[in-house]
Amino acid sequence: MEVVSLPPLVRVAVCGGTHGNELSGVYLVRERLKKKKKEEADTVSVMTVMSNPRAVQQCRRYTETDLNRCFTAATLSAPVSDRTPYEIVRSQELNTLLGPKGTDDAMDLICDLHNTTANMGLCLISYSDADWICLHIYKYLKSEMPAVPVRYIHYDVPLSEAYSMESVGKHGFAMEIGPQPHGVVRADIFNVMKEGVQLVLDWIHNFNSGVWFDGGEVEVYTMVKNIDYPRDAETRTITAAIHPQLQDHDFCLLHPGDPLFLTFSGKTETYKGVEPLYPFFVNESAYYEKGIALSLARRKKWLFHPFK
Ligand SMILES: [Zn+2]
Repeated sequence: MEVVSLPPLVRVAVCGGTHGNELSGVYLVRERLKKKKKEEADTVSVMTVMSNPRAVQQCRRYTETDLNRCFTAATLSAPVSDRTPYEIVRSQELNTLLGPKGTDDAMDLICDLHNTTANMGLCLISYSDADWICLHIYKYLKSEMPAVPVRYIHYDVPLSEAYSMESVGKHGFAMEIGPQPHGVVRADIFNVMKEGVQLVLDWIHNFNSGVWFDGGEVEVYTMVKNIDYPRDAETRTITAAIHPQLQDHDFCLLHPGDPLFLTFSGKTETYKGVEPLYPFFVNESAYYEKGIALSLARRKKWLFHPFK
């Protein structure tokens, strides 16, 4: 099989607090900012960034609008006035610092740290299913963290419409870890993130040092669609919760006819799709406002190129 060769990753950013109440990333970034690590300086320069300090200070996801939806080409180039929401102004500052998006000056890789209330283990979320850097890092995390479920989720969106922070880098992914309630830090989840970030940096160091990486096969989950809660036709309030048989069962294949919701009057609603798909972000608390009860993905296997 063909050997892929790419330039070294010289400038890397580790970002947390993009959502101000996702506390593993917030505290990991604080720790990193306290003790600048010297050993990383040899083959890679790592910038540590607190993305949304105002939201972090208030321990909220965002103050005016969701920062992690502000990195589209349109929003990044929108004119700014006194009335522009803070997060839009901040996204443009971050684009200057870490980008500009889509240019040669952009960071070689952005790792943006997130937590979810869903039982998702460690997921790398990326806009590409053919980014060999991200896929090799994923494979490395999977092999080095056998006790943790590690998965790769692909959002099939063109770069200009890609809305989240990691899309500013030449390569990038969100590292999404759960379950952890927002506004809470759990040692077990924090430690998974800490180990995950260290392994990412170790992999980059190896890659920059010319280490050979074998090819192989990986599984990628490609996002297909979101499903909203059943809602009252007039008030739009939800009328059901995630069914107990689905709760905490992220990435367990959902078949047509399987229980999806349990209404507050006690009726089970089933999955009406025609194709079995994999649920994720099941009952993510931040997505109630977005009208998302869960997301569904198709799983595929990818053949992997050797790499150096
Ligand atoms: Zn988040």
